[in-house]
Amino acid sequence: MAFYSEEDSGDDYLFKIVLLGDSGVGKSNLLARFARNEFYSNSKSTIGVEFQTQKMEINGKEVKAQIWDTAGQERFRAVTSAYYRGAVGALVVYDISRRQTFDSVGRWLHELHITILVGNKKDLKDAREVSTAEGKSLAESETLFFTETSALDSSNVNAAFQTIVKEIYDILSKKVI
Ligand code: GDP
Ligand code: MG
Repeated sequence: MAFYSEEDSGDDYLFKIVLLGDSGVGKSNLLARFARNEFYSNSKSTIGVEFQTQKMEINGKEVKAQIWDTAGQERFRAVTSAYYRGAVGALVVYDISRRQTFDSVGRWLHELHITILVGNKKDLKDAREVSTAEGKSLAESETLFFTETSALDSSNVNAAFQTIVKEIYDILSKKVI
């Protein structure tokens, strides 16, 4: 199974990463914040799958992260196999202000993916339903990375994507050599 593809220059890596999690948790806004430094206060509905390719630098090497957004497929739990195909990393996102989205995290975990668990909307302090400790504890029990983010105020968004890309890079560079 090809976990990465080398580009013509030989030194570049392209990693496919998927955003997963219940509808409304902020997946599209995390990507919009990371890739374009934008935020949408209303969910804009989109048709079909979208992805954005973002260049990053890891250990002095250029790495391209191709980050896929479900574009609404997850509402019907009908995320297609094409969406998952070739993905090596995943951000599994829940909304810290909606416990139900935390309860369904297990449904989005996939053993083939290096995963970071992301508790989004940490700006909604007064509406918090899932504690940081609970998020951490779930991540530990499933051996996932963990962070809490806010696509609204930008906190930890870049770091979340950096973490997953760096981890993929580290694991694959060990395997490949
Ligand atoms: P998706 O369905 O998972 O792609 O979620 P969206 O990105 O469409 O976001 C759903 C709703 O949550 C939208 O109204 C966003 O404006 C809002 N939202 C997303 N991220 C945050 C966040 O970090 N904080 C707050 N307060 N709202 C957010
Ligand atoms: Mg979306």
